Amino acid sequence: MKYICPHCGEKTFSPLQKALAGSYRSMGKPCPNCGKRCCNGMASIYFDSIISVLAFVLIMILYMNSDSSNKIQSTVIMAVIIAVSLLLSFLFRMFFGKLVEPIRRMQ
Ligand SMILES: [Zn+2]
Repeated sequence: MKYICPHCGEKTFSPLQKALAGSYRSMGKPCPNCGKRCCNGMASIYFDSIISVLAFVLIMILYMNSDSSNKIQSTVIMAVIIAVSLLLSFLFRMFFGKLVEPIRRMQ
């Protein structure tokens, strides 16, 4: 399974390469075929913002409900929530959305 480069139309990006190409606001990654930079489109930005809001809400709920006796436990759970949200946005970039040209162009 490969993703199509928006510049040359060839299927050059593997899911992992696509995930590592970053978001719309990043520099992107060069296509192995044409060398032009590609990154993930707006879908990944929307997904990232939804996930970070969800993670923030979960952490706030946890923070409100935690008492001083289980501080270590809630710190661990918060770290897990953050790790899971990063993993989910990485997986989303791997399998969903399409590659586009980055906004930032090489000078
Ligand atoms: Zn290309």
